[in-house]
Amino acid sequence: MATDLRLPTNAIVKPDKDRFLNEDNPFEAMMSRFDRAAELLDLEPGLYKVLRKPEKQIIVACPVMLDNGEIEVYTGIRVLYNTSRGPAKGGIRFDMQVNLDEVTALAAWMTWKCAVVNVPFGGAKGGVICDPLKMSVGELERLTRRYTAGIIATLGPDSDVPAPDVNTNERVMAWLMDTYSMHKGHTVTAVTTGKPVEMGGSLGRREATGRGCMLVTKEALAHLGMNVKGTTVAVQGFGNVGSVSAQLLAREGCKIIAISDRTGGWHNAAGIDVDDAINYVKQHKSLEGYGKGDPISNEDLLTLDVDVLLPAALENVITTKNAAKVRAKVICEGANGPTSAAADAILDEKGVFVIPDILANAGGVTVSYFEWVQDRGGYFWDEDTVNDRLRNIMVKGFRDVLGLSKQHKVNMRTAAYMVSISRVATVHRLRGIYA
Ligand code: GLU
Repeated sequence: MATDLRLPTNAIVKPDKDRFLNEDNPFEAMMSRFDRAAELLDLEPGLYKVLRKPEKQIIVACPVMLDNGEIEVYTGIRVLYNTSRGPAKGGIRFDMQVNLDEVTALAAWMTWKCAVVNVPFGGAKGGVICDPLKMSVGELERLTRRYTAGIIATLGPDSDVPAPDVNTNERVMAWLMDTYSMHKGHTVTAVTTGKPVEMGGSLGRREATGRGCMLVTKEALAHLGMNVKGTTVAVQGFGNVGSVSAQLLAREGCKIIAISDRTGGWHNAAGIDVDDAINYVKQHKSLEGYGKGDPISNEDLLTLDVDVLLPAALENVITTKNAAKVRAKVICEGANGPTSAAADAILDEKGVFVIPDILANAGGVTVSYFEWVQDRGGYFWDEDTVNDRLRNIMVKGFRDVLGLSKQHKVNMRTAAYMVSISRVATVHRLRGIYA
């Protein structure tokens, strides 16, 4: 019999069900799911308290000299949620919506995400409140370098490893890596992932989140006895995650009937040529004016009559306001937190099979892990090796979660949280509480 590693306990966890009511707060949304899984796992109160709190929250002022000679001071945030399983891992976003609650929720999500696919990282997230679309390349570079310098005490291959997220990309990671390396006095490639391939990035990293979405969608279709060929798909968001998911699902034989970005969407029942749409966006920067189909709003796209809905934009797009109108059989959450906690119950009642974000979009951090391993080993893999290993991890992650969901008769989201929380909790029990 396995040793009982539970911490001493004399009370039971009493999750606060009222948290379901606050639909707009992402941290509350994360916590209400956490509570449900913790209750089913019978998590001891001491660990419940530990896992409810972020380990570290850093807020830094980032003064930047603008091109016009004026000084602007941006606010930068980095949250390390939990590092029990390894270095903190998670992206950095540049967006006007960034705030401490959101970044903390996203850092917690990263913790569960790394645990659900069993990569040896903790969870972190960062953000800078800014509107990158209104900034020049020079201003973005200066902001990135100043933000990096502001959080440099936490950064490092063994402690905290950023990656791209909303509105950041390979170029931003290159500036971050360079700034960190200048401070250290030598080149440190493994301080960040999602770098350009020429400077220690991994082949397949850019496509990894979308590839992961495609892999788990195929697993879900197989589980539900649905044929991949001809499966209809609507994709919200046409950035890195949405466009690659759409492209790879189309290559598998799915019919992508709607796509969208922040400028609106396009619906074409005969199927959208995803490669053509990607080329259009390369030339025009967005889907505005694409025209090969009927215009559709982001809101209407979510309630289209499709087999698979793939929300790959921002948080909280499926809520109590529209969940009852969703007609998809499968939702693959390419974005982080696209469904509010209160909407979960509505989707369950309708029998929608939801592949939760912490599993569905874990392909990105999985290949980030491969990149970190390659940087530290100084030995790089070919793309087939990256993709094969990614497939093994995503398929195993899906099957671990599905297995637990059947065993406990819970939905995939609760099962994913149960897998993650029990992995993180086990490490805490083994490590004990340092005093
Ligand atoms: N930003 C991505 C995510 O939310 C990737 C994080 C990483 O690779 O560290 O999963």
